[in-house]
Amino acid sequence: MILFGFRTRGKTLGQHTVGCPNCHREAMTTFSQRRSWFTLFFIPIFPISGKTTVATCNLCGFRYNVDNQKAEALFVAAA
Ligand SMILES: [Zn+2]
Repeated sequence: MILFGFRTRGKTLGQHTVGCPNCHREAMTTFSQRRSWFTLFFIPIFPISGKTTVATCNLCGFRYNVDNQKAEALFVAAA
């Protein structure tokens, strides 16, 4: 029997203060990236989708997609 499936793995990049498109305030925003993987026996084998970066406004909770490179650039400088 072969067990296969899909799994979404995510990681939090960090937090940064950016202007929120929803509440229009300078808000501490959490950036996280996720990607779906094909798994075999619960081991991720290869990614089946591109990376998606999601930003969550810590003030109003609004979530929106952001450009991967732009988000990564925010945290490269801080690292
Ligand atoms: Zn907001």
